[in-house]
Amino acid sequence: MIGCCVPSRDTSDRFSDRCFNVFPCLSDPVRRSTLCLRLALVMLHLVFVGFIFIFNEEFREESKDQPWYTLIYLLLVFVTLVQYFFTSGSSPGYVLDAMREFARTEASLRALEISKQPASSKNGSVVVTIDRNQSGEHLVGNNPMNWTKLVMDMYPPGTSVRTYTCSYCNVVQPPRAKHCHDCDRCVLQFDHHCVWLGTCIGQGNHCRFWWYILEETALCIWTGILYIKYLQASFSKAWLVAVIMIILLSILLIALIFLLLLLLFHSYLVLTNQTTYELVRRRRIPYMRTIPERVYPFSKGACRNLYNFCFARASMYAMEPLPSALELEQKSVPYSCFDVISCRCCC
Ligand SMILES: [Zn+2]
Ligand SMILES: [Zn+2]
Repeated sequence: MIGCCVPSRDTSDRFSDRCFNVFPCLSDPVRRSTLCLRLALVMLHLVFVGFIFIFNEEFREESKDQPWYTLIYLLLVFVTLVQYFFTSGSSPGYVLDAMREFARTEASLRALEISKQPASSKNGSVVVTIDRNQSGEHLVGNNPMNWTKLVMDMYPPGTSVRTYTCSYCNVVQPPRAKHCHDCDRCVLQFDHHCVWLGTCIGQGNHCRFWWYILEETALCIWTGILYIKYLQASFSKAWLVAVIMIILLSILLIALIFLLLLLLFHSYLVLTNQTTYELVRRRRIPYMRTIPERVYPFSKGACRNLYNFCFARASMYAMEPLPSALELEQKSVPYSCFDVISCRCCC
């Protein structure tokens, strides 16, 4: 028996080794589970959409008469899947990446300053510029003092560096950043870690995430309508298919309710410039504890927040300083009738 088992284990090990050689990404268990999740999502979409094409004869007939209707539906399926992969593969904006970007910018600025200095001969200046550029990058990259100063200037004077130093990454976190234990990195403007997408949602991909929820909601509604149409027309003809369709429709409705709530919740967060973490764990964030509940410290008005969220993200690593005491005081003034008429919440 033992003799029979050993070669089979060896064979499976050899097979998995070959697989890992061909696809190196599969050797990492985290990547493997993400890949499985993505495959499951694609399969789920194929099952729900495929059922309509296989069993709904009327839909197939309609497709011949009105091909544009089917084409738009299929386009929505394709765009939703592309948006899923696009969001899932995007970076949420890690603090370490922001630090590197800052170091690079500072090094190039230093190099530019040095190259502008009227110094020695032409050949010599080139050598000096390259040398200084490399040493500048090396200096800033290894000495995080400049980063610490930049970040601490965003907090009120007298704030301790230790309060905002991540004990896992050993970096100073700018306001709104948080360490994600799943990604094992600090994320800028951390919203939440999405298990469904297998990545964090933060400053770099929150907008993409919102669009993904919108597209998935639209797809759910359209697919649900097609299912209901089929059940209305052919419930008595093929009861077994109808029962499967009812089960799928029930799952679709539960998913739709969840997606609609999620879409509304994230739209509210966008309009008030908040994150899920800031809303849910407000008391855990030291600088948020003293701010009244109904005051959104980073909000610049609904219109400006929406514009910044969609278009004006100048850099993926742009950071927002904490508002001053005066600004917070202005924000906490209760709304009067004039404020409502003049749309104070919008601008
Ligand atoms: Zn961290
Ligand atoms: Zn994460």
